Amino acid sequence: SSLEKTLLASIRTIPDYPKPGILFRDITTLLGDARAFRRAVDELVHPFAGTKIDKIAGIEARGFILGGAIAHQLSAGFVPIRKKGKLPHETVRVAYSLEYGVDEMEMHKDAIAPGERVLLVDDLIATGGTAEGAVKLLKQMGADIAAACFVIDLPDLGGRAKLETLGVEVRTLVA
Ligand code: IMP
Repeated sequence: SSLEKTLLASIRTIPDYPKPGILFRDITTLLGDARAFRRAVDELVHPFAGTKIDKIAGIEARGFILGGAIAHQLSAGFVPIRKKGKLPHETVRVAYSLEYGVDEMEMHKDAIAPGERVLLVDDLIATGGTAEGAVKLLKQMGADIAAACFVIDLPDLGGRAKLETLGVEVRTLVA
């Protein structure tokens, strides 16, 4: 589609970052392109316009940038999901798997009330380990997860399938 072409053209690919053999998708160029940034946000928002979304949960760090813009457009609140140790108040915490090893992420305990309808946002889904951790946190808080949204899908790494297995609708803009 022309949207996919516009967005793809605005995303930079960096070979061998952060390690040899990795092709890193860099969305700072998309964010810096006024038209591409607006189109990406509009497209992610579109399916939910006019529906009840209480909160956007954004995954550190690029999920904060997209999530803030989406929250504003949907008149929803914004909730940060952060690496452990960064949030000042009482948190719920979950371990999640990375390519090599595990890490932990947190959300404030009082950030979401049971039954609130929440949209999960990040820039990219690869193996889905990060988003799966976020879904676990949201479910623990009793959230009703409307969907998980990403600009980029790396479908060969199976993240979309992993989230769908958890019963979460996945929306992505480019693959
Ligand atoms: P996953 O947990 O394997 O799905 O990896 C997704 C997480 O790692 C997201 O938070 C992404 O921001 C980050 N990530 C993985 N690969 C890339 C990349 O090529 N570009 C930007 N972020 C990436």
